Amino acid sequence: MRQLTDSQKQRVRDLLAELVHIDSAVSSQAQARRDRTEERIAAFLTDHLVGMGMTVERQEVEPGRPNLMAHWPDQTGAASLMLEAHMDTVTVEGMIIEPFRAQIRDGRMYGRGACDTKGGMAAFLTALALAREEGRLPADKLYFVATMSEETGCHGAAALMEHGFRTTAAIVGEPTRCEVVTCHKAPLWLEVQTRGRSCHASMPECGRNAIEVMARVVDFVHGPWTAYLGRRTHALLGRSTAVVTQIDGGSKINIVPARCRARIDSRLVPDWPNTQVMADFERMLTEHVGGSGHCEVAIVESQPGLDTDAGVPLATKLLHLCEEVNGQDAPRGVNYFADTGPFSQAGITSVLFGPGDIAQAHTADEYLDLEQLYQATEVTLTLLTEHAGRSIVSPND
Ligand SMILES: [Zn+2]
Repeated sequence: MRQLTDSQKQRVRDLLAELVHIDSAVSSQAQARRDRTEERIAAFLTDHLVGMGMTVERQEVEPGRPNLMAHWPDQTGAASLMLEAHMDTVTVEGMIIEPFRAQIRDGRMYGRGACDTKGGMAAFLTALALAREEGRLPADKLYFVATMSEETGCHGAAALMEHGFRTTAAIVGEPTRCEVVTCHKAPLWLEVQTRGRSCHASMPECGRNAIEVMARVVDFVHGPWTAYLGRRTHALLGRSTAVVTQIDGGSKINIVPARCRARIDSRLVPDWPNTQVMADFERMLTEHVGGSGHCEVAIVESQPGLDTDAGVPLATKLLHLCEEVNGQDAPRGVNYFADTGPFSQAGITSVLFGPGDIAQAHTADEYLDLEQLYQATEVTLTLLTEHAGRSIVSPND
């Protein structure tokens, strides 16, 4: 395993600090559109990538909210590999540390995005730069890709796939504690509206109570629907889940409510087509709730899952290196989703790998363990340089 020198450690640490200094937090899509949230970090990255000798292509997904795709113009390859990280972070609301100071204490760097996912970004950029400086690059054409709007539903990655950008394989930098992750579930977020007929609450028999109908919907989701989802399991991810997470209905204490709305977070094992799940949900819901209540179901968000064959060259080679640094002997699955969903759906062989623990992502005192940062850089650098002149992603190399 390659070991970083002290000055190389400082280089990746300084780069991470610069990335954390840049506010790229998204509190809502409206705010991000107004503030052009990814513009500043995209400008910084463009300078940095050009400084590394790369050509940077920019896809303007929304004004001031681009995806960046960078490569070395003099590097070719029969196959290609992208190292990818998203530029946006979650909101800084509720944070109990200064979000953009990148303060270092006890071997950790604190700040919004330090863990999710500027740490992975800094590790990839530094490993690419070092491998290039040493003149030891794999036979695969390399890309560094930075996406917009991941935290709000992988919109940048989806737009990139729509744009037609493709590589053979991808390593997506999310906090996996420097372990290889080959699968995650597919989120399917639903909204159910029940409609009744309002009337004065002193004569409830004259109306139809939308909350009462919703109570049957909630009972259905946590009962028969959860049991139905449990019928299909995945070796690393277990069973699909569904839980009611938001509810509101009614306007006054003395009026029988005509409307109620609930939201359901559902996570499906990756190979289950959500069209089939939706059809079954609506059919079973109608059976359970009965004819007395009118329900409307809508999809709030739907993302593809990830289920990469653990035997593909990229996964086995990366796993081999992870085993050396942290003893991981088999690929893992995770419950969160990432840009891997849209990439994998478009046919790109994708895995997740990056420094830090997802438990520290999105928190009030987000931090990254610097040892994790160095380790991720070392693993990535080793992967690139030990395959100098050979392919990382093709089976016969
Ligand atoms: Zn992330």
